[in-house]
Amino acid sequence: MSQQTTIRKLAELVNTPVEKLLEQLATAGMKFSGPDQVVTSTEKMKLLGFLRRTHGKSEASAESVGEAPKKITLNRRKVEEVTVSAGRSKTTVNVEVRQKRTYVKAAEAEAPEAPRAAPAAPAAPVAEAPVAPAAPVAPVAAPPRNPAPAAPIDPERAEILRKLEASRARNLAEQQALAEVDRKRAEENERKRQEAQAERDRVEAERKAAEAAARSGGATADAGSAAPARPARPAPAAPRAPVAARPAAPRADDRNNNAARHKTRGSHAMVAGVEDDDATKRFAGQLHLSAADRARRSNVRGKPKPTGGRRGFEQQRGGGGGGSGPHGFERPTAPVVREIAIGETITVADLAQKLALKGGDVVKALFKMGVMATITQSIDHDTAVLITEELGHKAVRADSNDFEDALLAHSEEVQGEARPRPPVVTIMGHVDHGKTSLLDYIRRTKIASGEAGGITQHIGAYHVETPKGVISFLDTPGHAAFTSMRARGAKLTDIVVLVVAADDGVMPQTKEAVQHAKAAGVPLIVAVNKMDKSDADPLRVKNELLSQDVVAEEFGGDTQFVEVSAKTGLGIDTLLDAISLQAEVLELKAVPDGRASGTVIESSLDKGRGPVATVLVQQGQLKKGDYLVCGIQYGRVRALFDETGKQPDFAGPSIPVQVLGLSGVPDAGDDFVVVEDERLAKDVAQQREAKRRETRLVSSAGNRMEDILAQMGKGEGQQVLNLVIKADVQGSVQALSQALVALSNDDIRINVIHAGVGGITESDANSAVASKATVIGFNVRADASARKIIEANGVDLRYFSIIYDVIDQVKQVASGLLGVEIREEIIGIAEVRDVFRSSKFGAVAGCMIVEGVVKRSKPIRVLRDSVVVFEGELESLRRFKENVEEVRNGTECGIGVKAYNDVKVGDQIECFERIEVPRTL
Ligand code: GDP
Repeated sequence: MSQQTTIRKLAELVNTPVEKLLEQLATAGMKFSGPDQVVTSTEKMKLLGFLRRTHGKSEASAESVGEAPKKITLNRRKVEEVTVSAGRSKTTVNVEVRQKRTYVKAAEAEAPEAPRAAPAAPAAPVAEAPVAPAAPVAPVAAPPRNPAPAAPIDPERAEILRKLEASRARNLAEQQALAEVDRKRAEENERKRQEAQAERDRVEAERKAAEAAARSGGATADAGSAAPARPARPAPAAPRAPVAARPAAPRADDRNNNAARHKTRGSHAMVAGVEDDDATKRFAGQLHLSAADRARRSNVRGKPKPTGGRRGFEQQRGGGGGGSGPHGFERPTAPVVREIAIGETITVADLAQKLALKGGDVVKALFKMGVMATITQSIDHDTAVLITEELGHKAVRADSNDFEDALLAHSEEVQGEARPRPPVVTIMGHVDHGKTSLLDYIRRTKIASGEAGGITQHIGAYHVETPKGVISFLDTPGHAAFTSMRARGAKLTDIVVLVVAADDGVMPQTKEAVQHAKAAGVPLIVAVNKMDKSDADPLRVKNELLSQDVVAEEFGGDTQFVEVSAKTGLGIDTLLDAISLQAEVLELKAVPDGRASGTVIESSLDKGRGPVATVLVQQGQLKKGDYLVCGIQYGRVRALFDETGKQPDFAGPSIPVQVLGLSGVPDAGDDFVVVEDERLAKDVAQQREAKRRETRLVSSAGNRMEDILAQMGKGEGQQVLNLVIKADVQGSVQALSQALVALSNDDIRINVIHAGVGGITESDANSAVASKATVIGFNVRADASARKIIEANGVDLRYFSIIYDVIDQVKQVASGLLGVEIREEIIGIAEVRDVFRSSKFGAVAGCMIVEGVVKRSKPIRVLRDSVVVFEGELESLRRFKENVEEVRNGTECGIGVKAYNDVKVGDQIECFERIEVPRTL
């Protein structure tokens, strides 16, 4: 409005007749046609300068014209200061500031502070004020300091001053009113906030009080004490907010109100929410981040949070388009090309995982290429490479020995000094020549087993201490076990003790044993057994062995012959001495400390203890807590047991020890290596497993094909005998599988479709049904559910307890010798319900006959968890204190087992008989 001042208004304002003003303007060189024309501020300034020059000779020098506006400003401030001291101190300060600003702006620009136009109003009159008088500024500026110019004030100027003052007062009042409105608004806000806060406090207090009351009954006072706090709070807070809001520029009020609002929210739990909102807004719609953005974010938010999930996954893979940005996900700009290592074969599932695809997608892709494969199926290298390339990735041939190399390097690290070690002995010989008896005798008499109650555990091997040193025996007599170990590359045995019965002489298996030992390059010691017998003829044995190139020392050879008796113990010490002597000659050495390595002798799955493996340490020291790789298994040694059931702290070279803590049952003959960290152990084991699985899958697929081809080509010519083999220990499983498969000939092909440790289960039975296989249970039995399937499907199930019998039977079948065979038939099963001790019979088992009939005259076996633990005869069979010959199904009886006192509740005693049956294929 001030800018729209007309001449008439200006004249009114300065109290000058319009005509005079027009005249002055004309004199100053500005032509105006009428009193309603608008006068601009420049024109006003020009007029002011002119008037000064004409009127103010006494005070204004020529140069002061240019400085006039500056002086006006300064003077205005002065006046305000005076006013400040008169009014309320708080508001006055504000007024001064605002006036000053408005004043300057009014002079320079066109009132940018439009909404607060009030202060601008007085600015105009101030600017206009000087129009009339020559020096309107000076008197206003310095009435107190410089009263001199005030004295000669003419009425015209006084009037101007008065009006100016009035205008200023009006302005001030207006500002005060505005400030008051603001203050009230702020107060109102604060009051509302505090009310809300108090309400929340009250609710909280009530809740707490309720809780407290619930806890301690009489805590209602809490609520009471919390309530008065409510009005107390707003009181001191009330004046604070307006004061704070005041000193800022008018705009700041709004901002402060905002700040106050934020504060209000911020003082509660919503802070997080507010920040989150902000963050969400900030990052919304910007999935694609520039490098600068990412850098900024990392600066703002510090270290990347481990957000896991997909992003973590992307980073881990190092692939994808994300690159180094720790926070943002960036859509890949180019397809990710992965390098996939593919071995001989790979399963579809594994390939899909490596390609980071779903299994179904790979199956689909294969299907499109004309290959039908399920997700679990193995595909060969070429197909895998094709499909990988088809999917846009790169295939490389997997080096399947990565981890093996690492393992090798790892075990080569520790190389200490080799020292003499005990010999490892295997006992071989013909059946019934006394191998088991000899081993038993040595174990019984030489192992310090007093503490363990005289019972030695069968762990597959044991060591004895002789005056001449320690000797370790592998307690798995039989050639099959020996050769299968050797076939797998495990050279465990240092010395073979060949047992030949002095009353029987050299027999087929004796010759076989000699050949095996020679092939393995292992020296022989001949133990001529059964020397206690009257018909013992050791010389005959020596002579007969000559034909096998086994020459006794007394004949000028280098083979030691020792005459022994496993029954009486004759010559056993001499035999042990002979072994020690032989060991000395062999100069057996091993590194006794450092990380251990060795071979698995035997393994089984124990119901309570999990996988159990007997290992023979060959180098280093095996300790509890060691991490080891064992064939395709790995684990941490949880416990070590020796043959007496004690837990040694460690086992050194040539010492057999039972290990607990493996991930699964390793195979007999597997090597084991102790490694520093579990990771490597796991990696190696897994790689081996994958390799084994791949080859197995491929070979089984091939076999099936072969089967069909064989059938087609030869018609009915070649028979296929499928076998499912289950045995009590891994050693027997291997020995049987190898021996039986080796029996294949042109007429019959023997095919082991499944072999494993433990009782015959439902799945074994099912696979036998599927492939029309014969089930062989070696010292194991079928459980109830398996038996049901076997019976329902007419599966041929045979139980054995002597490897030789199995081989013999299958051999006869294979060679087409159809005649009669002797088979064992189980005639009855008794379940042990209780065990009593009898002074006469030892342990007597209180039994219930659950199947068939138990006859006193027939042989029996004791089964624990479907595994044979003892085979022998009945000592006694009683019903109500009376000896009986047989007990039938459903009746109770007392059974005493001859020479076996370890019968337990839950065991089964099976009674069987041997019968002759005509052979069938
Ligand atoms: P393996 O088949 O070679 O393990 O032979 P065994 O150890 O089972 O023995 C077969 C039979 O020979 C058993 O009945 C033993 O009691 C018996 N026997 C073993 N050693 C001797 C011995 O030194 N003297 C006598 N008289 N009999 C023995």
